[in-house]
Amino acid sequence: MRNNSQKLKFKKHFVTGGAGFIGSHLAERLVKEGKDVTVYDNLALTSGDNIKHLFGKENFKFIKGDLLDFETLKKSIEGQEVIWHLGANTDIPGGNRMTDLDLKNCTIATWNVLEAMRQLDINKILFTSSATVYGDAGTATLSENYGPLLPISLYGAGKLAGEGLISAYSHLFGIQAWIFRFANVVGARMNHGVIFDFIQKLRKNPKELEVFGNGKQEKPFFLVEDCIEGMIHAFENAQFEAPDKQYDVFNLGCDSFTSINKVAEIVIEEMGLKNVRIVYTGGRRGWKGDVPVVHFSIEKMKKLGWQPKYTSDEAVRIAARRLLDQKSKIKD
Ligand code: NAD
Repeated sequence: MRNNSQKLKFKKHFVTGGAGFIGSHLAERLVKEGKDVTVYDNLALTSGDNIKHLFGKENFKFIKGDLLDFETLKKSIEGQEVIWHLGANTDIPGGNRMTDLDLKNCTIATWNVLEAMRQLDINKILFTSSATVYGDAGTATLSENYGPLLPISLYGAGKLAGEGLISAYSHLFGIQAWIFRFANVVGARMNHGVIFDFIQKLRKNPKELEVFGNGKQEKPFFLVEDCIEGMIHAFENAQFEAPDKQYDVFNLGCDSFTSINKVAEIVIEEMGLKNVRIVYTGGRRGWKGDVPVVHFSIEKMKKLGWQPKYTSDEAVRIAARRLLDQKSKIKD
């Protein structure tokens, strides 16, 4: 199984949402390989700290811009070769309160990226979709051809709409597209997600931990560097079937999973705490829109020669350790 860092063919890379958790790791990886990297981010969900260390590097450029500002986006994207489109709303429950959040920052933002690409003859896009497009499929093992796709959050709906737009642009205008449906990506610099939340809560009150739902939810977790190498691997190795089908979808994650109770146990252990009382809010799902069980098939990526280095439990432990080591990034 080849899982080592691959070299990329193209020189100019444009990363939307590149100041975020995953985007900053991707930008760092591309800069290290000597690529010309432009990060485009409106800093709505991040402060810019994640990419501070890249400022001043000759092959790195940051543009503070909004994906909803078409003219600025188009000007910024001109002359680029590969578009890594990560910019999106990532506050899933937030979408329940502001119901146009995902429509704007995922669906319309993705249309803007595609339209700028079409007008400027740029033809390669990698899109970070999510397992949320599958909806609540119970304990079914989700492979890329599972259907029907019925998301239960506006975030999932926004991702599915993004996938649809990319498919159509790909067919109509010759854009090549790699769509990645991520499991839960974890690692240093995370600013959301269950591991981050548990650490925050336990820092405030080390005696008690509130768990959303019944704790029995089961999700696959994998490390951010595996995620990035997986995308690069598919980009370099996937073959498109035909000139009019230059679009493919890949589950990216792991085929093991971790219960939320186990995540709590690991975080508590890593923080060196004892006798923590767990309080459940109850119910199968953590909040409205949460998919309680995600069992993932990554056979398609395995066939391409990629697999994650760690099991889901191992990834949770490594990520918790990294977050705890990086105290300054976690607000008290
Ligand atoms: P993140 O919130 O850290 O990064 C998203 C970035 O997008 C932020 O820096 C934010 O400021 C930027 N952004 C949002 N709206 C924008 C807009 N209108 N214009 C410009 N920039 C904008 O999240 P992340 O975890 O790094 O996620 C990266 C991508 O991967 C997202 O598309 C997310 O949906 C997807 N994804 C992440 C996970 C995960 O577990 N982290 C799982 C599935 C999919």
